[in-house]
Amino acid sequence: MLFIYVSAVSLIKTKKGILNIKVGEYTFYQKAGNYKKSKKRWCCTQNKYCKALLHTVDNKIVSFCNEHNHERK
Ligand SMILES: [Zn+2]
Repeated sequence: MLFIYVSAVSLIKTKKGILNIKVGEYTFYQKAGNYKKSKKRWCCTQNKYCKALLHTVDNKIVSFCNEHNHERK
């Protein structure tokens, strides 16, 4: 599987204790419903209609789409 190298990736925790992935200036939250799978889908936190998303397998980013259809807040 192709490993996408993305610079400036960090894991952050929200005030509610939820793990988010921060990539550059954007933050991604884990989509509900797949917590038990090793492959996880993460979506942009800023706009629920945003198409940007990333997938992780075993805590590694395996695909990354950084196409945001909104202004950065
Ligand atoms: Zn976005």
